[in-house]
Amino acid sequence: MKKAVLYARVSSDEQERQGFSIPAQVKLLQEYARNSNIQIVKEFTESETAKKSGRKEFNAMVKFLKQSKDVKTILVEKTDRLYRNPSDYGLIDEGNFELHFVKEHEIINDEASSHQKFVHGLKVLMAKNFIDNLREETRKGLKEKAEEGIFPNRAPYGYKNVRNEKGKSIIEINPATAPFIKRAFEIYSSGEISIKDTAAQLLNEGYVYRPYSPKITCGALEDMLKNPFYIGLFRFRGQLMDGIHEPIISNELFSKVQTAFKKDNKPLYRKHKFLLGNFITCGDCGCSIVGEIKKEKYIYYRCTWAHGKEKCSNHKYYNEKQLLEQLGEAVKAVQLDEDLCNRILEVIKELNKQEEGFQNESLARLTFEAEKLRHEIHAIYQDKLDGIITTDQWREENELRQKRLIFVKTKIEALDNTKQKFMDEVISTLELLKDTYSKYLQVSDENKVNLLKSLLSNCMLKDGKLSWTYKKPFCYIAEKADSEKIYPGCDSNA
Ligand SMILES: [Zn+2]
Repeated sequence: MKKAVLYARVSSDEQERQGFSIPAQVKLLQEYARNSNIQIVKEFTESETAKKSGRKEFNAMVKFLKQSKDVKTILVEKTDRLYRNPSDYGLIDEGNFELHFVKEHEIINDEASSHQKFVHGLKVLMAKNFIDNLREETRKGLKEKAEEGIFPNRAPYGYKNVRNEKGKSIIEINPATAPFIKRAFEIYSSGEISIKDTAAQLLNEGYVYRPYSPKITCGALEDMLKNPFYIGLFRFRGQLMDGIHEPIISNELFSKVQTAFKKDNKPLYRKHKFLLGNFITCGDCGCSIVGEIKKEKYIYYRCTWAHGKEKCSNHKYYNEKQLLEQLGEAVKAVQLDEDLCNRILEVIKELNKQEEGFQNESLARLTFEAEKLRHEIHAIYQDKLDGIITTDQWREENELRQKRLIFVKTKIEALDNTKQKFMDEVISTLELLKDTYSKYLQVSDENKVNLLKSLLSNCMLKDGKLSWTYKKPFCYIAEKADSEKIYPGCDSNA
């Protein structure tokens, strides 16, 4: 008979919610064990309070399992019961335990497929992100209310923030500034003119940037010409997403401008960024590989090689382009085909449905409370008019309810936004992996590095060859995709 431990947890803010009780979790797990012929040798239950941080029972369980010879299995209700953060994930993963997520009908062990492990890794990330997002949304929402109608995302030059009929902030083309954008793209797209001269020509032609600074600075102009917002996209956590705002520039003109940037080799107006700085370490001595400029335009990297008294033997220079090319191999190894992406998305959608059940419940409760508060606010006002309570009493009672109402309404909105964000996040992670290598070849070097940074940690350079470690959960895909190459494994801190 297989031996296992049981783990159940409720967090401080869940204790008041329905359906989140320790006894309910324990009962479910005991039943599961009976039906699956598993013997529960020890139970670990954790009821967190807001005062105490840390998880005593979780740590005790990990210790117990590590010391035990024949118990390596954990029974737990759902992914989010077991993990609160990625370091929990690291601890559990390290132990190589067998995990039974009973409500999710999932068993993770050595025999689980790479894809199963990948989806599991995604779930861990999502569970955490979901809570973070909800907190952030609530905070943001409250701040927004306080500032009375100021939309937190300021529209870029060429657009303006306005409110639609429903009072929601939206972004519209600003007829006063949009022609400036259009003309700037047109002038620079010829590929024959520098940023500096483009700025001058704009002013010559009568395009005034801002009343107090008629000529645009080179830095601002470059940012403007590289901003995909103008073709209807926007950045979301480093990812390009489709926006709902109207584009000012055609895709064609935008890509002509991006090509022109490659021709304009006079980066005098801006200090050069070493994209791969602090990203690679030397395989010989462990120092950072740092960038420098040669002949005013070529970017090279080499080991800092001042490691104590002994100097590093790795004193070659490495070309940035070539390093990026090699790193492309890392991207290639985690590429997913469309079909697989879709299947994973299905799994996540299914999971999301379970989560939505709980959210809808919260939403219903909050909506009910908001309705009740509005009712009360109305009733006490009537009491004041009828002279049942004094104006002072009314003021006090009214304020209490108004404050609570704002809080409740904000929570409702946050819940709504978070729902969408959760799926956005999943989709953007999957989008990242879909045909990612061909995307890698197309995007700017800066975006190449952004992509690499979200996939990899610990890049190392030895004898001109790069090696790398994948962050979770990407390592599971890499294992599958290329079993011939030996990768150093997963980063336990990721
Ligand atoms: Zn070195």
